[in-house]
Amino acid sequence: MISSAKNDASTVTSVPLLDFQRGNSPLKAEILETIAEIVDSGRFVGGPFCQNLEQMVAEECQVEYAIGCASGSDALLLSLMAIDIQPGDEVICPSFTFFATASAIHRLGAKPVFVDIDPQTFNLDPSLIQSLITERTKAIIPVHLFGQCCDMDPIMAIARENDLHVIEDAAQSLGASYKGKAAGGIGSIGCFSFYPTKNLGGFGDGGMLTTNDPELASRLRLLANHGMQPRYYHKVVGVNSRLDSLQAAVLGIKMRHLSRWSAMRADNAAHYDRLMVEFGLAPMIEPPRHSMDGVHVWNQYSIRVTGGRRDQVRKAMADMNVSTEIYYPIPMHQQECFKYLNVESETMGQTELAALEVLALPIFPELEKSELRYAISCLAEAVMTGDSQLRMAS
Ligand SMILES: *Cc1c(COP(=O)(O)O)cnc(C)c1O
Repeated sequence: MISSAKNDASTVTSVPLLDFQRGNSPLKAEILETIAEIVDSGRFVGGPFCQNLEQMVAEECQVEYAIGCASGSDALLLSLMAIDIQPGDEVICPSFTFFATASAIHRLGAKPVFVDIDPQTFNLDPSLIQSLITERTKAIIPVHLFGQCCDMDPIMAIARENDLHVIEDAAQSLGASYKGKAAGGIGSIGCFSFYPTKNLGGFGDGGMLTTNDPELASRLRLLANHGMQPRYYHKVVGVNSRLDSLQAAVLGIKMRHLSRWSAMRADNAAHYDRLMVEFGLAPMIEPPRHSMDGVHVWNQYSIRVTGGRRDQVRKAMADMNVSTEIYYPIPMHQQECFKYLNVESETMGQTELAALEVLALPIFPELEKSELRYAISCLAEAVMTGDSQLRMAS
């Protein structure tokens, strides 16, 4: 039961970006009991808890196979290894993403080829893919950013026409769907992360791969365990990327609450939308737009602060104890390590603009309505103060 004091916006004086405690503490007794079971079992890597989680994720994603691994970054790397990406190959992905999407490509000696985004969804713009395809292109990595699926129909059509694999980076989108199909169940392979900030977050690193292809499934499993089959016999050079029993056990418990948590996130997002209207924040603030083609699971609620004032607004909100974050401040093509790719700024207009404007507000499931209201009232104050300062300066 929520206390009346907590419901009163006037008593809220801070809003955290994340508070894992609120989600974990109701599950603590059950988690500790299961950890004790693992301690007693002496089985710490793989095993029944991993198999159970794999089965749950396979069901969630409506796929035949799910394979645990050590992280979302490894899931991406293993996927590209499984489809045999070689040095000199090209893989198309967005520049507006987390580093791991592009680094997996680079690590295999292949070339990340960046595609600009759709300013409405922040996801890659499928209409720009065709012109980037060359004889060396082997795959596309659509990233379902912030919890919303990419427009997959045109992406899958281009992939089919050009004989390319599609590796879904669904690290932020477990439970999301596109036209009734689950994220991670549409392309050749889906990649998930259980990093604590994801919608299904563990107590450390963890990842999962999904596929409907039995050959890819066994190849992924082989590659994630040193390419070893049977023990100490290596057909291929794989990596050590396995899922711990402890992580799998924690995640298995939390997985049962995922759809409820996603609904709470969606509820928070809808409430933010209403508050933005109530506080009259348009056009200085643009709320995130969601496509009607799918279910959005709101790993992030990223607004745009227009007019070049994002950092100033963020600072003002921080002064009022509202934590926010920028996903992502530097696009991949502007990273020092990818300068060698010589991507022209003009081809990345929407990506660069998004990097200057986005601001993620707290959206985790257990936030109180009073906290959402406080966050938006502070956002409004930050925007208005900035406005009067601008007027005074001119
Ligand atoms: C988190 C994330 C990853 C990497 O996952 P880790 O488990 O942290 O390695 C990859 N891609 C995207 C889009 C992510 O958000």
